[in-house]
Formats: sequence, structure tokens, C-alpha cells
Amino acid sequence: MDLSEAESALRERAVEFAETEVEPAAVEHERENRHPRDVVRRAAEQGLTSPALPEEYGGGGLGITANLLVREALYAADPGIAEAVTGSIFGCEIIAADGSREQAERWVRPVTNGEMVTGAAMTEPHSGSDFGNTRTQAVRDGDEYVINGEKVFIGNGAIADAVLVFARTSDTDPPHRGISSFVVEAGTDGFHREELDEFVGPGAMSLGRLELDDARVPADALVGEEDDGFYQAMRTMNGSRLEIAASAVGAARGALDRTVEYISERETFGTPVADRQAVRHRIADYEARLAAARSLTYETARDLEEDADLAEEPAMAKLTATTLAEEVASDAIHLHGGYGLLEEYHVEPYLRWTKVAQIYDGTNEIMREIIAESVLDE
Ligand SMILES: Cc1cc2nc3c(=O)[nH]c(=O)nc-3n(C[C@H](O)[C@H](O)[C@H](O)COP(=O)(O)OP(=O)(O)OC[C@H]3O[C@@H](n4cnc5c(N)ncnc54)[C@H](O)[C@@H]3O)c2cc1C
Repeated sequence: MDLSEAESALRERAVEFAETEVEPAAVEHERENRHPRDVVRRAAEQGLTSPALPEEYGGGGLGITANLLVREALYAADPGIAEAVTGSIFGCEIIAADGSREQAERWVRPVTNGEMVTGAAMTEPHSGSDFGNTRTQAVRDGDEYVINGEKVFIGNGAIADAVLVFARTSDTDPPHRGISSFVVEAGTDGFHREELDEFVGPGAMSLGRLELDDARVPADALVGEEDDGFYQAMRTMNGSRLEIAASAVGAARGALDRTVEYISERETFGTPVADRQAVRHRIADYEARLAAARSLTYETARDLEEDADLAEEPAMAKLTATTLAEEVASDAIHLHGGYGLLEEYHVEPYLRWTKVAQIYDGTNEIMREIIAESVLDE
């Protein structure tokens, strides 16, 4: 694929950052279940967290391909730290696209330069895939909105300096038409958060549960128009699903590279495991499928840069790449034998992450629904 000079330079920086900052920290963060705020800050300083956010707010001003290049490099080194880095700007795309200049200066710029991290809260205990059925309520009261409700599975939810919270402002039929988004800052009265300690995904990922109990935000915390929240979220989804595809391509690459290195050294019955035909063909299949998933992902990125409404191709890329990544990661453990289940070999976290990738930003069943609808219902 042809890359611009800026994209090539960004990829080089991302690959170097993965080698020097992500890879060496991976096992420790996994073991300690610790969010790497220091690594996130350094990534931001190198322009790796926000290459596609607008330049006027400190972003790189590039297209979505730039995000994909960074993700591919970082997820190959460690999916957990990669989540923390790339997820540090959750919600900022929406604030930059739909919010006012003042809102972007206040909540996007400090994120692009690494001073703040954000989150985006859509999911509720009773509704994930069915986001349109949001129950959290925001009621206007003079110069403020009063928000009540609960959110769960929110990336950075417990640690973010500000969270973009989606709440119902109108009772509409269908219900998705009555949702709005609000920036709720840490420290707001009635905004309670806790880490989801039961989460068994990658250790460096911070996942939170939020409770809004008469949380009051100023009226100018509303992002864009009232009742546009569902559409704001959907406008970013085609891109974020494609970003997950690139993350999965990177994770599959990382798991496969570690495996090839290991089986080339490991001998059984006097011969390297990599010499067995049963193993060689598996590796060959994965390489071929990974090349195909990668091509689909980057080709779709260029198409999406031309047409932001493209939904089927990003869904296809997410479905294809995350399905492959799960198979690769599972076999990576298997081909390490018992060592695949030891922390220091660092292959098992890839498998846990692939389940995350198949669930968030629309599960793979929802991806199949999008694809099937485009094929069968047009
Ligand atoms: C690690 C992680 C990070 C996350 N980060 C965030 C975040 O930052 N912000 C946020 O708002 N949310 C986040 N989420 C939530 C995530 O988006 C939801 O978990 C996801 O949308 C699925 O919703 P659910 O868990 O309620 O499952 P459900 O929607 O209840 O689905 C349960 C099962 O039913 C299937 N299913 C549902 N509907 C259909 C259908 N129509 N046809 C066929 N099958 C169907 C699903 O595919 C799934 O297998 C995160 C989740 C995880 C695991």
C-alpha cells in the first residue's frame, strides 16, 4: 500500500515506540493489572494517540490510515498497553467533530498532548448492542442538566479526567432518536466511579462502572445538538470498527511472530518443532490469511477516507480480522506447549484480548447483521 511521507514517518515512530516502550513494559503491567499512564503520556508526546484528530486541536490531522498504522504496531507488541494508549482519546473524535471550539479546546487539546485521558460511556447494564435503549436520563434544569443512570464496561471510566456520557433527553419512538451526549468531568458531584475489578481482559486496560446520581453538568457540557447522540456515536463507529480490525491484524502478527521464534528454537525428538509439516502448514495458512485480512483492512481505510458512511466493509474487516486473531492467538499458546500458559512468554494475553475485540464497538453478530443487511435487504 502506498503511504504518504507523514504516514511512513508515523509508522516508523510507532514501531520504534512499540519496541522501546511497549514490549519491555508488557509483562509487568499484565501482572500488576496496572494502567500505564506514563506510557500513554509519552505516546501522546510523540503524536501516537491522536494522529487522525484535527491539527487545530493538537492532533496529527491525518486520515484513518494513520490510526491503523499505529494500532498495528502497538497491538503486535502488547494488546493491553496498546488499548491504554489508543483508548486514551475515547470520545474526543465526537467532541472534535460535533462539539464547539471551546469544548474541543477544553477537552480535546489536553488529551492530544497527554495531559488528560477521556472515556465514552454508552453501554448500560441492560443494553450494550441495543444502545438505542439507553435509560440514563438527562433533564434540563435552568442552566444545567441533571443526569441519573448507570454505565458499565467503560474504557478508562474510573480513571478518565472527563467522560462523554450518553443520556436520554427525549422519550421518542424509536428510542434511539432521543439520546444526547454530555461531557462529565471527574469530580462532578453525584458522578461515582469504580474500577471493574472482576474484568479478566488485558491487565493494562482500565474498565469502569459509572453511576450518575443527580450529577449536575452545565448546559454547555451538551455536545452538539440535543437528541443527536446516537447519530454522533454511529458516525464514529465505521472508523472505530476498522481500527479494531487493524488492532487485530497487529495482535495476530505479534502472536504469530512470537510463535515462529519459539518453534524455531524448541526441539522435540531431536528436531525443531518448526520442521514438522503439520506445524509448517498451519503457520503458512495463518500468514496467508493475515495478509488477506491486512489488505482488506487498509483498502477499506482508503475507501473510508473518501466515504465516511461506508459501513459493510469496516464490519467485514472487523469480523475477518478478529476471528483470525482469535485462532492465531489460541494456536500460539498451543504451539508453545505448556510455556504458552506462563506469563513470561507473553502469548496468552493476546487470546484474552481477541475476545474483547469481538465484543466491543459492536459484537461480531452485529457485524454479521450489518453485512447481511447490505447483501440481503437492499
Ligand atoms: C473490554 C470492553 C471494553 C468496552 N469498552 C466500552 C466503552 O469504552 N464504552 C462503552 O460504552 N461500552 C464499552 N464496552 C461495552 C461493549 O460495547 C458491549 O459489551 C457490547 O456492545 C455488547 O453488549 P453487551 O455486553 O450488553 O452484550 P449483549 O448486547 O447483551 O449481547 C449478548 C450476546 O447476544 C448477541 N446479540 C445481541 N444482539 C444480537 C442480534 N441482534 N443478533 C444476534 N446476536 C445478538 C451478542 O452478539 C452477544 O453475543 C466494552 C466492552 C468490553 C468487553
